Amino acid sequence: MSAETSSLAAALPDGMVITDPDILAGYRQDRAFDPAAGTPLALIRPTSTDQVQTTVRWCAENRIPIITRGAGTSLSGGSTAVDGAVMISTEKMREIAVDPATRSAVVQPGLFNSEVKAAAAAEGLWYPPDPSSFEICSIGGNVATNAGGLCCVKYGVTTDYVLGLQVVLADGRAVRVGGKQLKDSAGLPLTKLFVGSEGLLGIITEVTLRLLPPQGPASTVVGVFDSVHDASRAVLAVTGEIRPAMLEFMDSVAINAVEDMLRMGLDRDAGALLVAQSDAPGAAGAQEVELIRNAFESNGAGEVFTTDDPAEGEAFTAARRAAIPAVEKLGSLLLEDVGVPLPSLPDLIDGVAKIAADNQVMISVIAHAGDGNTHPLIVFDPADTAEADRAQTAFGQIMDLAIELGGTITGEHGVGRLKKGWLPDQVGPDVMELTALIKNALDPDGLLNPGVIL
Ligand SMILES: Cc1cc2nc3c(=O)[nH]c(=O)nc-3n(C[C@H](O)[C@H](O)[C@H](O)COP(=O)(O)OP(=O)(O)OC[C@H]3O[C@@H](n4cnc5c(N)ncnc54)[C@H](O)[C@@H]3O)c2cc1C
Repeated sequence: MSAETSSLAAALPDGMVITDPDILAGYRQDRAFDPAAGTPLALIRPTSTDQVQTTVRWCAENRIPIITRGAGTSLSGGSTAVDGAVMISTEKMREIAVDPATRSAVVQPGLFNSEVKAAAAAEGLWYPPDPSSFEICSIGGNVATNAGGLCCVKYGVTTDYVLGLQVVLADGRAVRVGGKQLKDSAGLPLTKLFVGSEGLLGIITEVTLRLLPPQGPASTVVGVFDSVHDASRAVLAVTGEIRPAMLEFMDSVAINAVEDMLRMGLDRDAGALLVAQSDAPGAAGAQEVELIRNAFESNGAGEVFTTDDPAEGEAFTAARRAAIPAVEKLGSLLLEDVGVPLPSLPDLIDGVAKIAADNQVMISVIAHAGDGNTHPLIVFDPADTAEADRAQTAFGQIMDLAIELGGTITGEHGVGRLKKGWLPDQVGPDVMELTALIKNALDPDGLLNPGVIL
C-alpha cells in the first residue's frame, strides 16, 4: 500500500484499496484498446454506495481523478485508465431485487445485462435492451452509455427503461432521481440527464428499471444479397412499412469472419446478409413475415429463409452478435458506431465502401440496420504505420460522412475518448458550451472521467 493511498485504505474495509501493479495492469484498457491508456494510482471495488461516497470524498479532497468502470467493454475508450486516477470498478455491486407488483427491478450497477434479464425472467418478466455484448457488459455501463442492441429497433434503448437512479456526485453526496413510479413530472428530468453521461456527471450506484411482460415467440427471416447496396435498400422497404423486432446487417467480410469462427454454414459468397424478426402475434406476425420476405426479394435477395423455430432464429442472431469478435481476429480494429436517419442508410453504406477504397483499408460493415446505426469496422495492422495512418484517416472520414448525412458519430457506444474530436462538428459550439456548463456545475474540479466527451 502506497503512503499516498493509506488514508483512503484506512477509511474503507481491509484490502479494498488495490495498488498491486499486476492487478492494476488488467484495468488499464477497455475494448477500444487505446494505446494511450494510462496507469491508475489505485483500484477500488466497492460493494455499497457508502463506499463509493467515501472514495469520491477522498478523491475530491486530494484532487485525484476518478474513472468509473463497469465491465470494461467500452468500444470508445470510455473506461480507459488515465495516469494517477483512482479506478472505481462496480464489478462487486451485484444485488438485484425484482418487484413483480410494479414490474420493476432495483439493481446495483455491476450486474451483467444478461443477469438482469435472467432475474427478470425468473419472475415472468422481460428486460428488453440487448447489446450484442449482453453477456459481458454491466447494467451500469449500459445506463452510462445509453446502450442499444438488437431488439431496440422495436422496443427502444436503455433510457426507455430507466425509471430512477442513485448517483454519487463529485462532492460525495448521493442523490436519488426518479423511482418506481411510471410517470413523474417533478422537477427537471434529471434521470435522463445521467443516462448516457459516460461517467462525467456522477457515479451510478443503483438503477431502477422498468420491465415488460415476456416477449412473444419470434419468426426469423434471413435474406442473402449480392450487394450491400441492395441489402440497405431492402432495410428501407421494411422500415417504411413496419417496425420489426430485429433487423440486423452483415457484409461479406463479417459473414466470412463469423463462418470461420462458428462454422454454421453461412453463404461465403454472399455480399450481405439481413436477419429480421417479427414477434407480432398470430395473423399480424404472419403478415409481417410476408412483408419482410417480399421486401427482401423485391430488393434483390437471391435467397430468403424463414423459420419459426426459436433455436434456428437464435443461431442467426448469435451469428450477428459474434461479428465484432470474429472480425477482431482479422487484425486491430478502429470501431465506428455512426448512425443516420434511415433514408440515408444506403448513402452511408455506399460512402463507407468508397472511403475504404480511397484509403486502401479493409472496412467491414455490420449494423443494427433497422435503427440506421452502423458499425464500420476498420481492420488494420498496427505494425504497418502507413496502413495505421490510412485507417485513422478513414475513421475520421466516416464520422464526417455521418455528420454530412444529418446523422451522429455514435448511435450507442458513446463519444468516449476516441470520438470527441468530431463531437463539436456534430453538435456545434453552443451545445458544446452547454455541455461544459453542465459538467462544470456538477464537477467543477473536472475529476470525473477526465478526457471523455470534453
Ligand atoms: C463484442 C461487443 C459487442 C458490443 N455490442 C454493443 C451493442 O450491440 N450495443 C451497445 O450499445 N454497445 C455494444 N458494445 C459496447 C459496450 O458493451 C457497451 O457500451 C456497454 O454499455 C458498456 O458496458 P460496460 O459495463 O462494459 O461499461 P464500461 O466499458 O466499463 O464503461 C463504459 C462507460 O460507462 C461509464 N460507466 C460504467 N459504469 C458506470 C457507472 N456505474 N456510473 C457512471 N458511469 C459508468 C464508464 O466510465 C465509461 O464511460 C459492444 C461491445 C463489445 C465488446
